[in-house]
Amino acid sequence: MLEIQELKAAYGQVQVLHGITLAVPKGQVVTLIGSNGAGKTTTMRAVSGMLKPTGGRILLGGKPISGLPAHRVTKAGLAHCPEGRRVFPAQTVRDNLLLGAFTRLTMGGRRPKGNVAGDLDRALDLFPRLRERQKQLAGTLSGGEQQMLAMARALMLNPEVLLLDEPSMGLAPILVEEVFHIIGRLKSEGMTMLLVEQFAAAALGVADYGYVLENGRIAVHGPALQLRNDPKVQAAYLGGTSGH
Ligand code: ATP
Repeated sequence: MLEIQELKAAYGQVQVLHGITLAVPKGQVVTLIGSNGAGKTTTMRAVSGMLKPTGGRILLGGKPISGLPAHRVTKAGLAHCPEGRRVFPAQTVRDNLLLGAFTRLTMGGRRPKGNVAGDLDRALDLFPRLRERQKQLAGTLSGGEQQMLAMARALMLNPEVLLLDEPSMGLAPILVEEVFHIIGRLKSEGMTMLLVEQFAAAALGVADYGYVLENGRIAVHGPALQLRNDPKVQAAYLGGTSGH
């Protein structure tokens, strides 16, 4: 569903991604793990059109999307839930979600428009905390609730592929568990996801396949279970206190 081939990206003169190749098959969860600064967020930004790649190809459902602006990538069927809970603080929870649907409706394109009320209901079913807080301003939600709102809003786009960048960042352990539970539920419903996570063990627990990024290059990749049992991956990413 999503193919990244020899992707390169830079900030000014500083080359950050040196040719990354990875694939996210339909209905699977693929995780990208690695230390701070390895280039995980940069990969996500280059895929979603927030950063123009300096080389390589990205295909979504077989069609090239590399170098397209973010709104065209969204229109092609990719939703990016970025690091750091970007919600609209002065809008209610419900309006934040409807903005997700509005984005989809105004995009037109080949994808079905769907049923906004039904999608809203589905999002609120997945995130019961948001249902209770529908009329509350998003800025007054706790950090964990804002993270859930950002995920729910991305789902309102009815994406073919969902990119999740550090959905557990800064959350209390109980909420981290809840976020992973929701990722598992989305997976069981057939959602295709690329997941960047600091909690590498949990990410490999929910994922089908994993890639380890080191200094802008894929160092190791394999089925998630195999990576979890790989002594080198364990020592570098699964054993530390931070989970990095
Ligand atoms: P983290 O887990 O800390 O988020 P990451 O693997 O997501 O790490 P990136 O955020 O992709 O790493 O950063 C990769 C490299 O690019 C780092 O060296 C970082 O300093 C640099 N970088 C990231 N954003 C920018 C920017 N806007 N301008 C310049 N350099 C940047």
